[in-house]
Amino acid sequence: MNAEIISVGTELLMGQTLNTDAQYLAQKLSELGINLYYQTTVGDNPGRLKQTFLHAFSRSDVVITTGGLGPTEDDLTKETIADALGIKMVLHEESRRRIKEFFGKTGLVPPVSNFKQAVMPAGAVVIKNDQGTAPGCIIEKDGKSIVILPGPPRELIPMFEADVMPYLDARSGRVIASRVLHIFGLGESLIEERIIDIVQAQTNPTIAPYAALTEVALRITASCRKGEDPRPLIRPVEEEIRSRLGDHVYGADDDTMEKVAARLLIEKRMKLAVAESCTGGMVTSRLVDVPGISASLVCGIVAYDDSVKTGLLGVPEAVIREYGAVSAETAEAMAKGALKICTADISLATTGIAGPSGGTAEKPVGLVYCGLATGYGIFVKQLQFSGDREKIRMRASMYVLDMLRRELLGIRQL
Ligand code: AMP
Ligand code: MG
Repeated sequence: MNAEIISVGTELLMGQTLNTDAQYLAQKLSELGINLYYQTTVGDNPGRLKQTFLHAFSRSDVVITTGGLGPTEDDLTKETIADALGIKMVLHEESRRRIKEFFGKTGLVPPVSNFKQAVMPAGAVVIKNDQGTAPGCIIEKDGKSIVILPGPPRELIPMFEADVMPYLDARSGRVIASRVLHIFGLGESLIEERIIDIVQAQTNPTIAPYAALTEVALRITASCRKGEDPRPLIRPVEEEIRSRLGDHVYGADDDTMEKVAARLLIEKRMKLAVAESCTGGMVTSRLVDVPGISASLVCGIVAYDDSVKTGLLGVPEAVIREYGAVSAETAEAMAKGALKICTADISLATTGIAGPSGGTAEKPVGLVYCGLATGYGIFVKQLQFSGDREKIRMRASMYVLDMLRRELLGIRQL
């Protein structure tokens, strides 16, 4: 089943309103396993809308329009489509009553123009709008469907989810399933290089990468006829991707790095201590997001000022004097100190320059040292992150949590 979207509104063409409805609908259609082949934006102009609609109707099984259902003169979507299809417009009594009620709640008398919104193409299935006065509708003609929705996202989204999605789902005759793989430590282009042949050879399932701030997610989506199970289609592709990307794949679906690391800590009954400077508690906070972490997390120390690094964590003053607070030596001493004062099995440490000020030629903004200590040894990694303060802190937190995951799994560090 092929669909297409027509976004109606001069404000979209003028760049005053960002077309988020099209983005939303495109994502939903993909989830429904319905192919979306075209998106068109057209202004509030009946002639051009009619032409656009007829073109869409000639080549697609489902045409979805958004916008142009307002009470004013320039809102003409329903009327134009009915005209194009040779369908009369008739008053929909229930919609008229709902509009009256909608205004009743506000204590206002509806302007006559609002009742125009209750006039619908004859024979259409009306979609009620609980957030506004413009009902939508579905018209079926020549085995095809036309779905007409209002423009405001707060009206369109609930209407789509309550009525249109089940309708399309039933019509598509297909079911879909997807699996998301979370990847850390490999950029999008490197990932693509490693799996390009799989991506190109694949039509079902499809494979789509999304680069987020600190990771890349690969979504594998399979569809099949209703009554069949799409998941077996995903499995061999997932296995092949995992074999190409190795331990860079840290989790799947709802997994986050902190969930994965916390799960391992709890499983292995390991006690963790965290000493944070530049991340300022972000690492600890992310771990605390995971229920059950109290079994493993002993403490998180935000050792921001040098006096706390020395006084509380026992970083030698000479180390800070000689190498600086942002140095491999300080990260190492912080990790060692946290391990000792918390009697933990494993500890993490971060120290770096989050910016925007404080950088030098030798130690630029984004320079971060991440440390990990156990009773058997200490490991420190020097990193150079890009981005603003928030991004640098998020990237550093992610990195050090991955160090923890790798240590707990007994796999090599990056
Ligand atoms: P309309 O249904 O054409 O009267 O649209 C009413 C309002 O909805 C517009 O003024 C926009 O603020 C918003 N809107 C319309 N179309 C879209 C769209 N495609 N994406 C996001 N917002 C929209
Ligand atoms: Mg409009």
